[in-house]
Amino acid sequence: GKGAAMVTAVAYRLISQKEERQATLDAFRLSKEQLAGVKQRMREEMERGLRKETHDAATVKMLPTYVRSTPDGTEKGDFLALDLGGTNFRVLLVRVRNGKKRTVEMHNKIYSIPLEAMQGTGEELFDHIVHCIADFLEYMGMKGVALPMGFTFSFPCQQNSLDEGILLKWTKGFKATGCEGEDVVRLLKDAIHRREEFDLDVVAVVNDTVGTMMTCGYEDPCCEVGLIVGTGSNTCYMEEMCNVELVDGDEGRMCVNMEWGAFGDSGCLDDVRTPFDCSVDELSLNPGKQRFEKMISGMYLGEIVRNILIDFTRRGLLFRGRISERLKTRGIFQTKFLSQIESDRLALRQVRSILQHLGLESTCDDSIIVKEVCTAVARRGAQLCGAGLAAVVDKIRENRGLDSLRVTVGVDGTLYKLHPHFSNVLHETVRDLAPNCTVSFLQSEDGSGKGAALITAVACRIREAGQH
Ligand code: BGC
Ligand code: MG
Repeated sequence: GKGAAMVTAVAYRLISQKEERQATLDAFRLSKEQLAGVKQRMREEMERGLRKETHDAATVKMLPTYVRSTPDGTEKGDFLALDLGGTNFRVLLVRVRNGKKRTVEMHNKIYSIPLEAMQGTGEELFDHIVHCIADFLEYMGMKGVALPMGFTFSFPCQQNSLDEGILLKWTKGFKATGCEGEDVVRLLKDAIHRREEFDLDVVAVVNDTVGTMMTCGYEDPCCEVGLIVGTGSNTCYMEEMCNVELVDGDEGRMCVNMEWGAFGDSGCLDDVRTPFDCSVDELSLNPGKQRFEKMISGMYLGEIVRNILIDFTRRGLLFRGRISERLKTRGIFQTKFLSQIESDRLALRQVRSILQHLGLESTCDDSIIVKEVCTAVARRGAQLCGAGLAAVVDKIRENRGLDSLRVTVGVDGTLYKLHPHFSNVLHETVRDLAPNCTVSFLQSEDGSGKGAALITAVACRIREAGQH
């Protein structure tokens, strides 16, 4: 009768709504062929960044780091380290002991960087940093003790030596004026001199990927790649000197900071980008830049999710078609929420309570949809990251003329560490796309800070050896 017809009509509508949502999410489901294409293009962009003639126009910059040797266990001493550009800003004291029992002991303090300092003038930013260093020295009872320092600065820097880093472009949430094109060690030293309280011997500027590789390399000598999937994303690896055309000399290897976040800025990923990726990019602090990073890392995945949810709601496919103020708020889906929502141990009821906590009233069906969106976006991020990494390990294998390669990747970053599925999907993709490489993943404990100290220690060891 009439009732049955109505039930059928409702069922049809639900089915067609579901199909509409699936059609949208299908754009996030990449085939193996598409991923293989991404790997191939990453490889081409790597070559472009390494070559002298193409470097200037290249988007993936493949920056030389002047890190050539990994720790050999003989380094020792006390070092200061700064870690800027990740989830937290920290100052650290690192004690490296050699001998039978090699140990690395660390003390650190986390400081916040107010938005005004991140996006004000460079002087304000570096004055704040120096203020934090002074506070740390006081807190450790070390005022007046001059220690060599390693500066983990997690942004693209052009280096002409280990102790210099010219900031090419701010990324992530930073936008302080007057820093791009400047040597960040100079900016730090100027701020120290303005304060007239202490002096520091800055020995090394280190990207967080490099610090991570070095930290893991202290335990596993096969570790020749460093990967970060946190607020931002990037990779470094040991490249043959003969391929590093920007630096003279053909002997041995040098660690190259790829700055793969900028992959796609030339338009070469346009066929895999969705309209949601484009709007996240357009509303970011750096439109048009870091397009690969914006499809992969913690600062942006939540924004992609939010844009899809808004679109679904506008089309009446979610939240009963009502867009709350909360949903219009940028940055509400942080990595930790994405990770919680996708946790397998979670009942739907709990997903709803997470959403409620975010200020989003949902029905049971809504929460299923939100979870599905989160899954599609995070899965694609992990697959893209895996495709990029597959290009890296295969290049290392080919560089050495090997049929098969065993290599360890040192990894850090909140998304990699906290998300329940990201790492598995990433590993699986690398296995699929680089079948001739056996890749192990080693999570670094506190890679960026410890790594900066280790690199400083190596540099000091070599410097001292040179003096004798
Ligand atoms: C920066 C890289 C950094 C990565 C991870 C990116 O935005 O450009 O230098 O390694 O974030 O922190
Ligand atoms: Mg970090």
